[in-house]
Formats: sequence, C-alpha cells, structure tokens
Amino acid sequence: MQNNVLDTIESLREEMKNSLMKMITIPAIGPGNDGDGETKRADFLMELIEDFGFDSIERYDAEDERTSSGIRPNIIATKKGKTDRNVLVIAHMDIVPEGDLDLWDTDPYEPVFKDGKIYGRGAEDNGQEVIAALYAAKALTLSGITPLYTLKVILVSDEETGSKYGVKHILDKGLVSPDDIVVVPDHSQERGRKIEIAEKSGLWVKIVAHGKQGHGAAPGSAINANRMMAKYQNRVDELLHEMFDLENGLFSPPVSTFEPTKREKNVPNVNTIPGKEVQYFDCRVIPEIPLDEVKSVFEDTVETVTRETGGEIEIIYETDKEAPPGTPEDAEVVLRLRSAIHKVMGFQPGVCGIGGGTVAALFRRIGMPAAVWATSDCVPHQPNEYAVLDYMVNDCKVFATMVTED
Ligand SMILES: [Zn+2]
Repeated sequence: MQNNVLDTIESLREEMKNSLMKMITIPAIGPGNDGDGETKRADFLMELIEDFGFDSIERYDAEDERTSSGIRPNIIATKKGKTDRNVLVIAHMDIVPEGDLDLWDTDPYEPVFKDGKIYGRGAEDNGQEVIAALYAAKALTLSGITPLYTLKVILVSDEETGSKYGVKHILDKGLVSPDDIVVVPDHSQERGRKIEIAEKSGLWVKIVAHGKQGHGAAPGSAINANRMMAKYQNRVDELLHEMFDLENGLFSPPVSTFEPTKREKNVPNVNTIPGKEVQYFDCRVIPEIPLDEVKSVFEDTVETVTRETGGEIEIIYETDKEAPPGTPEDAEVVLRLRSAIHKVMGFQPGVCGIGGGTVAALFRRIGMPAAVWATSDCVPHQPNEYAVLDYMVNDCKVFATMVTED
C-alpha cells in the first residue's frame, strides 16, 4: 500500500517538473513589492488540480485594492482521510522580485532544466513545495488510497510581505483547528536533516541622535551627533553582549546576536560637525530572553549618553517580533515528520532553531506546534534560484507518508 503511493509519485516525476516550470512562467509578486499579486498563478493552480482527486477545493481570497483583480487568493485543497485529524501543508504562492537581471544566467521567468535542477524565480521558494504538496494528493488518488489523516494543502498569498492577506487571513477566518498538524515547508536546514521547531525573536532598532550642527573648527558651540552615536553604539553593544549571553543549543549560533548594521548618510563635507546621526541594530534574541529586557538596555543607555554629551537620542523599534515558545521536540508533528523522513530518505533528522522568521510563528503564537521542514540547497531570493527535482519528489513522498502511516 505504502510503496504503491511512493511508486506512483516516482512515476509523476516528469509531470511535477513540467508543472513547476509552467508555474514559474507566471510571476506572483505582491503589491508591497510592486507586483500585481498572485491571482493568475492561483488560477493556473486551480485548473491544474481540478482532477487531482481532492474532495474539496476552496478559495478564501482577501480583498486588496492594490492588485488589478482586487484580491489576494488563498486556496485550501482537501483530500479526506479516514480520521478527522488534519495534516496541513502550508506553502506560499508569492515570490520576491527577480532583483538585478544581470546576475541571472537565464530569464527568471523562462525556467530552464539542467542537471536535475529547475532554474527560475520562486523555483525553490516556495514553488518546489507547492507542487510537492499538491502531487502528494494526486498520487494518493491515483493509487486508490484513502489516507489515514486528512491532507489539507493550503496555498497562501503574501508570505513575502507580511502574511496579512495570506496566513493571517486564513487564521482570522477560523479555518484551522487547534489539533491540526501543521507543516510549513518553507525553510531547509542541512538539506532536510533538521526540522525547525523554534525561531529567535527579532528586534530592529533605529537610533537617531540629535545634536547641534556646527563648524569643524569650533566644536564648542556644537553637539557632535557622530560622537554621541559612537558612544551610544559602543556602550549598548557591550552591555547587550554582557547581559544576554544565555545559550540555547537549538540555534546556530546558540546565543542571541546584536549587530549594528545600517548607518544613514550624514554631512557631505569634512569640516561640518553633524547635528544628526542615524544608526540601526539588528537583534536576534533567543526565546528565553524577553524582548522588554533588551529594549530597556537600549532605553537606559540613552540617559547615560545624553547626560554625558548633551543632545537627544530617539529610539524607534522598526521590527518588534517576540518569538512564541518553540514547538516541543516530542510534538506529534515532529514525530510524524521524523518517521516519514526516515522512511523516505533513510535518515533520522534532528531539530533546530533559526534566526529568521516563518509563518510557523503565527501558529505557535496561538498554541499550535508547527514544524518547518523542506529539502533544498538554500538559494531563496538569490539570482539563479533553483529547485532540485529529486528534492521535490522526495518531499512529496514525505507528505504522502505523513498522512498514510500509522
Ligand atoms: Zn518562502
């Protein structure tokens, strides 16, 4: 029975490749990235899966006037199982723009198949998994198998620009149950050898030092914003690393990271003392440390530095995302994934945490233990992005196994 569906998936290899390549020719860039949205791609997918044997295919579109269709499409395709439990496989239809075309060897929207790889924008992120999830259902149908669990393939919009019109819309409509098993195949660690169960909190801080501009030869009447910022940055950098050195072995690196990154342009000439300086910090904080504690270091340091230098310092939190508690290592989704991966790929995957963010956090936040897993070479958002046909076929087998195995 089991082998039957895996053989069927193997026989669909060429068709899966062609479907992914066709999908890549239909860009799906969100209006937040100056695109016209995902509607054309969603229509293509609706047509593709008409005869895949889904028991229902439903649309939950969110309104968005910025696109020519006026909507951001979301698709829930359900292949019923013998029990009420659902396995949700959530993949996103939207892609990021192609970026600098000079960096591409081929047209990002004219996919090319070479050495087992499909090149094109969105091939890996998240096209490979959109196709893998859908063909798991088709293979079950062709094999005449009613899975044990119900397979719900949820294809969303807007993952790359905030998820308001995608996963958040689906959650707001109450379309998931608390005991659903949630897999988000949208990040790969060590080519599928790790299942992601936790994410760091993200805090992006913009710091604006307001001093008083003056002549380089007459510092007495100025307040040098550059010096204010230098002091502030040094102090905050040292304090953060001193205070928050707690480690969590799930993550690599295991510690929180606090990096001064972007600095805005100040004065154009050497002999003017800048009156304003703008600096950013990118902080990725392990979930054990409350972001409020990190913020208070940024805020307290303002006092110390302005007391010494005069002037004012303003703090703006541009991104402020407290990570929800991670998914337990023995959660059902982790155990089922692990056993399916072992069966299909022959190895036991470990678990890990990441510094970035996926939509899994939205599920974890409402108490649903989501897991993130896929197989890829990790080339999302890059020029010459590609999917690997073998990975797509294997991931499809893993999804099918997850819903059929005891
Ligand atoms: Zn993605």
